[in-house]
Amino acid sequence: MITVGVTGGIGSGKSTVCDVWAELGAYVLNADELAKQVMVTNDEVKKQLVDSFGSESFLDDGELNTKHLANEAFGKGRVKELNAIVHPKLPAAASQKMKEAEAQGYDIFVYEAALLLENLEPGLLDYIVLVLADEDHRIERVKQRDYSSETEIRQRIKKQRNFENVTERVDYVIRNNGTLEELEKKAEIIYQNFLTERDT
Ligand code: ATP
Repeated sequence: MITVGVTGGIGSGKSTVCDVWAELGAYVLNADELAKQVMVTNDEVKKQLVDSFGSESFLDDGELNTKHLANEAFGKGRVKELNAIVHPKLPAAASQKMKEAEAQGYDIFVYEAALLLENLEPGLLDYIVLVLADEDHRIERVKQRDYSSETEIRQRIKKQRNFENVTERVDYVIRNNGTLEELEKKAEIIYQNFLTERDT
């Protein structure tokens, strides 16, 4: 099984690329979804969340109180604190999902994460794909997707690294400044490369 990481800034097109690959048969794991799973299943993480963010971190039925945690993290500037609890657990959780995907017979495993390069476990992924798009496109697309304001999106972009500076650290760069169809075509071509790689 080939393992691939996908990264890029907000609204660059990561999820769209992953959707194309899922359609083509890949197992796709999103880091945010994985983090949410870790927060409700890992006892150590659960305890730390309660210690740091209060018992309101969980609802009565044990589900995550995403509203409370989002308010604490984003509303009160405690994102780093939250990440410090959850992120160290992600590589092991991702490895576990990889094993499950392999056992299920998947050829390609894809891990989508904006903070991939920060949290990367050496050797976990065979390839890293970076999706880039000009800021104007990203703002316009996220505006339409999330109904958020331009100011809000610009603030979120500012908090992320400048992904244009990490092209040397990745295996593939997808520039997403054209149409959706063009992006899908690029994603399909790279997927074929992975399959060829797997068979050689
Ligand atoms: P985030 O980090 O915020 O989750 P992302 O990198 O996963 O963002 P997507 O959700 O894939 O980005 O794309 C952002 C929005 O832009 C989506 O609504 C998607 O459908 C749209 N989009 C992506 N690429 C294009 C394109 N080339 N043309 C038009 N719309 C696009």
